Amino acid sequence: MDRYWSRLTRKLDPYVPGEQPEDGSYIKLNTNENPYGPSPKVLEAVRQAVGENLKLYPDPTCDAFISAVAVRYGVKKEQVFAGNGSDEVLAFSFMAFFDPDRTIVFPEITYSFYPVYALLSGLAYETVPLDSGFDIRPELMRSSGGVVFANPNAPTGRALPLSAIRNILDGNPDAVVIVDEAYTDFGGESAVGLIDEYPNLLVVHTFSKSRALAGMRIGLAFGDSGLIRALERVKNSFNSYTLDRLAMTAGIAALEDEEYYRGVTRKIIETREWFTAELRKRDFSVPDSSTNFVFASHRHLRAEDLYLRLKENRILVRYFKKPLIDNHLRISIGTDEEMRTFIEVLDRILGGADIP
Ligand code: PMP
Repeated sequence: MDRYWSRLTRKLDPYVPGEQPEDGSYIKLNTNENPYGPSPKVLEAVRQAVGENLKLYPDPTCDAFISAVAVRYGVKKEQVFAGNGSDEVLAFSFMAFFDPDRTIVFPEITYSFYPVYALLSGLAYETVPLDSGFDIRPELMRSSGGVVFANPNAPTGRALPLSAIRNILDGNPDAVVIVDEAYTDFGGESAVGLIDEYPNLLVVHTFSKSRALAGMRIGLAFGDSGLIRALERVKNSFNSYTLDRLAMTAGIAALEDEEYYRGVTRKIIETREWFTAELRKRDFSVPDSSTNFVFASHRHLRAEDLYLRLKENRILVRYFKKPLIDNHLRISIGTDEEMRTFIEVLDRILGGADIP
């Protein structure tokens, strides 16, 4: 521990992101990136945007991007906030809506950044159990301090229907409910359409997954204009320029090529269904996923061993050494070729394994 660290820094328990080797020699199925590149039109727009203008600060209000988002999602500009990745949007949201003396609630298995933000903001939290099928139990998601969950959830891949989201919103009229929809495009029902009805609903989106722009760091929040104003207050007390010029350009171009992204998303869903069936044939338990990853546990082989054996074979998946999920792997859906290679390597590992 460093004697110069603040008390806050000493208390933190930082999130550990998935390994990010830059040498390209791995099949990377560990951070839920999109295996297909961004739309060619996005790449062209970014190339065009590289120039003298980069000496100027970007528009701190992200007006052009937010206007494009509002049109695409059929909401008002005042109902949209943009940030540097949805991680930043989430961190701002914890600061904007929650107080240290009111306990917030999230599921016991969910995105592991939530407890990290809670510590950073000095917030108390409680977790509530999932059901035996790894589904969030809406009736338990109650707190006057605030409620946060991912839908579809991570790393389980399980989605709640809108009726359950309504149950959670109706049960928490005095607290902000944050629904993190990072993976919704792969099969979830989005709650963006509910923001006019529920002034306590904040829906968070990212361009990192279905829009294949993880490297650009683009996140969004949708909500009542009162909630968006709160996020702007926090942002302007932290860093006025959340989105850089290239990110805004890429974001606008991505919104203009929905056809490309629909095709890529459909492909990932098809690959996921094929891959899930292949895993089940090989003694894996795999809940149906509504995301671009699957959450898999083998009947005999320990997840940690499998993670290591896959890594030796230059396939990276995500293994969380945490209670309740330490015998599962989270495997992102890659291209068909990558997933076929995965199955071939898996068959070699299983063939050679000492299965009782
Ligand atoms: N929410 C969930 C549930 C995620 O899995 C991720 C990706 N790690 C994020 C938010 C953050 O995504 P980004 O910061 O790339 O927008």
